[in-house]
Amino acid sequence: MKDDKEFALLLDKITTARKAIVAELARRARVNDPNVFPMNQGDWHRWHHPQDNYFSGAGEMVCPICETGRLRYSRSSYNGHVHADCSTVGCVQWME
Ligand SMILES: [Zn+2]
Repeated sequence: MKDDKEFALLLDKITTARKAIVAELARRARVNDPNVFPMNQGDWHRWHHPQDNYFSGAGEMVCPICETGRLRYSRSSYNGHVHADCSTVGCVQWME
């Protein structure tokens, strides 16, 4: 990481991409996608609260950052942590 400004920009990208992923999971849940799952109540204590929604699953979507790459994502049903990786080199990727 070169400096604070670069770090802030990176956090910004992750925040934007993460919101898009969580919204995408909610959208998929609304159309009854069988690969999207609601949280088990027994896992409640492992999740941060509040969340916009508690759906988990994996998939791929147009990247909201570069808008050309494919953003691959997965959100754990165990604790809600998100992993994501854009196909565009240097765009965005992270693991929680
Ligand atoms: Zn991207």
